[in-house]
Amino acid sequence: MVFELNAVVRQKVLVSPELMILRVAPHGWELPEFTPGQYTVLGLPPEAPRYRLADPEDEPPLPGRPIRRAYSVASSSRAREYVEFYITLVRSGRLTPRLFALEPGDRVHLRPRMSGTFTLDRVEPGRHVVLVATGTGLAPYMSMLRSFLDRGEGTRWAVLHGARHSWDLGYRAELETMERLSPAFTYLPVVSRPDEEHVPWGGATGYVQDAWQSGLLAGRSGFRPAPETTDVFLCGAPGMVESMMDVLVAEGFVEHTRKRPGQVHVERYW
Ligand SMILES: Cc1cc2nc3c(=O)[nH]c(=O)nc-3n(C[C@H](O)[C@H](O)[C@H](O)COP(=O)(O)OP(=O)(O)OC[C@H]3O[C@@H](n4cnc5c(N)ncnc54)[C@H](O)[C@@H]3O)c2cc1C
Repeated sequence: MVFELNAVVRQKVLVSPELMILRVAPHGWELPEFTPGQYTVLGLPPEAPRYRLADPEDEPPLPGRPIRRAYSVASSSRAREYVEFYITLVRSGRLTPRLFALEPGDRVHLRPRMSGTFTLDRVEPGRHVVLVATGTGLAPYMSMLRSFLDRGEGTRWAVLHGARHSWDLGYRAELETMERLSPAFTYLPVVSRPDEEHVPWGGATGYVQDAWQSGLLAGRSGFRPAPETTDVFLCGAPGMVESMMDVLVAEGFVEHTRKRPGQVHVERYW
């Protein structure tokens, strides 16, 4: 596959020192159409510098071999000038320490083709949608909500977002604004380390599966998610996906696979 530094960093916003929103614009080509929820690939050459907060590499990467990883698109499919990504630093990682060292104007590889089936195409019109994420697993949901929140059809939307601290809740202001502006949308952030907050956290605590089981979502959103009415999306850390699957299966939900339709849709980041 061709490896070109075919895109330019347009904006970099550090949500915290280890979490960033990165906007990348194609250089000399046009973004293809894509479906919210899909991902593409970012890449850098091995000689690209590493971020100051990253660990040193045990072994240097092979010279001449580009480093590429998959990233969900966070921007709306209606935004045509750039692609937005929400990325967490893996201190010992190969690519993220190099991505975090990028600054506006720097070149990066952006695979022109978007792929993946973790999209709302699987959801029948009129069904409710609950989007459950930990960390940067929120990225594909931002694209879905920014593109489709106003699509009507009687759909109720809810985001259940887990993070360690309140300052790790990327996109919180935007999601709170969506909630204020759209009666069909509920945002439920969940913090797992409330003891470390500088200002007391008055919201939900624990893990997203605890918030689901506590009935908090039903109380806040006014609808009780059930397999007959609701599709659930799970994205992020494998531990959360497994725990949420256990809870959902016990409630009668079925994981959607290529061979068997179901109401639970899963994207695992690693
Ligand atoms: C379809 C898909 C979409 C993805 N979208 C995103 C995205 O939107 N944002 C994003 O930040 N990542 C996303 N990822 C993960 C991403 O592809 C990389 O795996 C991640 O950025 C680490 O790359 P690295 O080269 O720095 O680490 P590597 O050198 O590849 O090290 C990988 C190891 O780091 C750990 N790891 C990987 N990802 C994470 C993580 N997010 N948090 C904590 N530990 C991790 C795991 O132990 C993994 O085995 C996605 C993965 C897939 C498959």
